[in-house]
Amino acid sequence: MNTATDDKTIVKDYFNATGFDRWRRIYGDGEVNKVQKDIRVGHQQTIDTVVGWLKADGNLHSLSLCDAGCGVGSLSLPLAQEGAKIFASDISEKMVTEAKERAQKDLKDASNVTFAVQDLESLTGQYNTVICLDVLIHYPTEDAAKMINHLASLAEKRLILSFAPKTLCLTLLKKIGEFFPGPSKTTRAYQHKEKDIIEILENNGFTIQRKDMTSTRFYYSRILEGVKE
Ligand code: SAM
Repeated sequence: MNTATDDKTIVKDYFNATGFDRWRRIYGDGEVNKVQKDIRVGHQQTIDTVVGWLKADGNLHSLSLCDAGCGVGSLSLPLAQEGAKIFASDISEKMVTEAKERAQKDLKDASNVTFAVQDLESLTGQYNTVICLDVLIHYPTEDAAKMINHLASLAEKRLILSFAPKTLCLTLLKKIGEFFPGPSKTTRAYQHKEKDIIEILENNGFTIQRKDMTSTRFYYSRILEGVKE
């Protein structure tokens, strides 16, 4: 088994088992511990930034969107609420089932959003905008590059990505974390150099239009919007 397949199987199994329970809670509104609360707040900031960008453009109704690695629907649901048409998919069946249940419960009209259990490497079709948030952290940069290349081929106008940036400070924090693997040990987390991700986007014909960074104590996510001229 090569590393890419290996990472993917581990990630899929994780998000169908302990990872599902952990992340469903983090991406929810029930009781969580302090670290999870911090991650919840940080992740919500990332979601709010992306929803804010799309709303600011004022044309959400007319766009076709693809949310690759949609998790429990944290991004797709607010976008559907705003009237966007979204195809949302995730490698984990459990995450998708939860996303569907949340859509039925929280949306007045859930017909705008279509869900599928599918890994992002096998997605097909064309979308005005493809978005992939907090997924690349599960893969080394060479695999992330292949994923971004594929997502770029589905995006007519825009690709929005978020990832954990590789900076000296965060690398040190991660190393300290690895000395104390707690009971909630998760899958491996891979950080990526911003310049590498920008280069991959540029090689696919995208220009960086907007950037943001979410940093809380335990959650770091660089958000990049690449646009095709
Ligand atoms: N994007 C969502 C969000 O920001 O709320 C979920 C982020 S969660 C940290 C990562 C998600 O990526 C999980 O739901 C996991 O199942 C999914 N995932 C991981 N590898 C994937 C792949 N190769 N294709 C599709 N989904 C994947």
